[in-house]
Amino acid sequence: MSSRAAARNHPSATPRGREPMGRRGSRRRRRTLAARRAALTGRARRRRTVTCLSSRQRSGRTSSCDETALDLTGDEETTIARLNPHVREMTSDILYHLALGSGSHDLHAMFGDVKFVCMGGTPRRMEQFAHFIMKEIGYQLPTGAQLLDISLHSYRYSMFKVGPVLSVSHGMGMPSVGILLHEMIKLMYHARVKNPTFFRLGTCGGIGIDGGNLVITESAVDGLMNPYLEQAILGEIQKRPGLLDPELAAELKALSTPEDPWQIYSGKTMCTTDFYEGQGRLDGAFCDYTEEDKFDFLRKIHAEGIINMEMESLMFAALCHHAGIRGAVICVTLLNRMKGDQVTAEKSQQMEWQEYPQRLVARYIRQQLEAADGVGSGAGGLIRSLSQLHLTRQTSEQFASSE
Ligand code: URA
Repeated sequence: MSSRAAARNHPSATPRGREPMGRRGSRRRRRTLAARRAALTGRARRRRTVTCLSSRQRSGRTSSCDETALDLTGDEETTIARLNPHVREMTSDILYHLALGSGSHDLHAMFGDVKFVCMGGTPRRMEQFAHFIMKEIGYQLPTGAQLLDISLHSYRYSMFKVGPVLSVSHGMGMPSVGILLHEMIKLMYHARVKNPTFFRLGTCGGIGIDGGNLVITESAVDGLMNPYLEQAILGEIQKRPGLLDPELAAELKALSTPEDPWQIYSGKTMCTTDFYEGQGRLDGAFCDYTEEDKFDFLRKIHAEGIINMEMESLMFAALCHHAGIRGAVICVTLLNRMKGDQVTAEKSQQMEWQEYPQRLVARYIRQQLEAADGVGSGAGGLIRSLSQLHLTRQTSEQFASSE
């Protein structure tokens, strides 16, 4: 291990935020100078001081070991809003649930080209999406390579990278998606990704909408119809609005065509902390209300503009909004809650439906990449035109099946 890496990983390396005030001023001046130098040379890397607490410091007499670290970033290098100042100061940040770390991995080299982060419930669905998006954007893995779960060793979430697209499973419910978002947002920061777009591709219960249709969330509310996420932080309730990017939602909606097998709707989503009683189902292990109570509730929330229910959108919306990240939630309905509570559609039908949000988001990503002329970047410039590529594939598929 190089002395620089050793210093960075040294257990006594401390966040600058905890240093005495006097030293922070001079450090800030050095950072500003370094940033100017980096800007002048047109290079993103900049000088960063890593502080190791020595015995003299511990006894109150300060001394530090300064060094230049190439893979660390600062204020002017992130588009993440309200980023935790402690994270900026950490010399090594372990993204525990992703099995990645800023000290152990070169996150900029690994993820610096990411533009789109797509999240969905299960590892299987997100692996399938990774393969699907690879075809859709004409991305080719280097010869002999195959898609691997980057977060395999976390045994929590699964993550696949296809050029500028990350496909990540978020598990079920708000705590799970919240933990993942903290680490994905920090990953964007460490990788120096600017202005990423986050998507949640999920399933939901429609309210007045039959199974097999798409709902784009305009904003998310909790089970009491509050338009914000309430989180207990240090013994106090913090409220964060469940807002999503209206432009992105409109752009996605506009990508739907009359030929699609789904109808597309947009409206408010109720995000609950439970699938059964929390969503007014009559088929949970417990139920202390009547069928009439259930329908009164569903009619009441529908009148307030709520058109679907699921269990992740509020956390997703609140954290994306808090971080200033463009985010969208696109869910396929598995059933119409006005008609029942059990998911009775055939498994194969459900699998097909679950591809609908993927197809819509893939269209968006493809359009964005084409507009940015970035299609061939992951394929080493091999793909000249995506529409030509699709034509070629279609023709050869037809040819093969007619043989
Ligand atoms: N997910 C939910 O949270 N509720 C449903 O009814 C279907 C999927």
